Amino acid sequence: MPLSVLERVAAETLDWGGTGMSVMEISHRSKEVAAMCSETQELIKSLLGLGEEWEVLFCQGGASLQFAMLPLNFAGPGGVCDYVDTGVWSTKAFQEAQICGAAPHMAASSESDDFTHIPDKFDFSPKPKYVYLCTNNTVRGTRWATFPQDAPGPLVGDFSSEFMARKHDLSKFGLAFAGAQKNVGPAGLTIVLIRKAFAETARKGLPRMLDYRVYLEHGSMYNTPPVQAIYVSNLIFKWLRDEIGGLAKMEELNEAKAKLLYGYIDQTGGFYRGTAQVGSRSPMNVTFRLAKGELEKPFLEEAKKEGLSGLGGHRSVGGVRASLYNALDIQAVETLISYMSAFMAKNG
Ligand code: PMP
Repeated sequence: MPLSVLERVAAETLDWGGTGMSVMEISHRSKEVAAMCSETQELIKSLLGLGEEWEVLFCQGGASLQFAMLPLNFAGPGGVCDYVDTGVWSTKAFQEAQICGAAPHMAASSESDDFTHIPDKFDFSPKPKYVYLCTNNTVRGTRWATFPQDAPGPLVGDFSSEFMARKHDLSKFGLAFAGAQKNVGPAGLTIVLIRKAFAETARKGLPRMLDYRVYLEHGSMYNTPPVQAIYVSNLIFKWLRDEIGGLAKMEELNEAKAKLLYGYIDQTGGFYRGTAQVGSRSPMNVTFRLAKGELEKPFLEEAKKEGLSGLGGHRSVGGVRASLYNALDIQAVETLISYMSAFMAKNG
């Protein structure tokens, strides 16, 4: 989280906007909270350049609940929906569609290559209700550089680990969702962007909290939304707009951080080795291994002592992962590279 946002949250925890209270203590039906929520929706739309054809919903249940809401709303029992599998998060989404009784079809998968790349050949169904993909694989460190333009159905995407990290091309999407806890704010909020025309194709009669129509009809206030998480996200979006200068600038900064780190890894003669294929590399999650596997543990332990924490790869794959989310500045990447050079000099 950007320091300026944390400081503001700390100050406003005692008095938010002259109310004498924090956001946590005010009714979600109050005019102040309602105004803050609509302002947040507008901030999202304006940062992403979304027009009137889009709605912004605030959901809960993490990104994982979207894995079920999507097939429930748009596929239904036996409904054919296509998936592209790039690793754990899309695998889970596919399985969830099966559990929900839909008929998901795997249109492409990079599993046989250990999910080291984003597929570029697809076996789409003739008329899927939607085509699902995860735009950035947090675990494998892969990212879709561009999205399929000729899919036979609307794209729906899990943007969780790169939401607001670049200018997203949503032209082929009917729905995009993201858990807030990477680039946006605290856990507990899932942002769903939904195209109105796509929303109209949703099935009716689902349990209310699983029904996108209910969120649309009630302005995401059918029940109590996660107001504190929305409030922090609001401040993050203002930081993005006012201090960073918008998404194009954010993308430029993120690309520069990633270029620096991948560039360094590539010139270590294999001492450090990126796990994702070059064309599929994620600027958000830089995953790599040490050629001498036995050095990975000391690498992580010593890094922690140097104040470089959170570098362990996801528990399902191991290795090292440097997550370069929006709030992390380039100096942090430089510090990491200095540490990596010193470690290599000692152990190379
Ligand atoms: N999708 C992606 C790309 C993720 O990285 C994660 C979690 N890190 C999830 C989904 C699951 O998110 P949640 O914990 O919010 O359900």
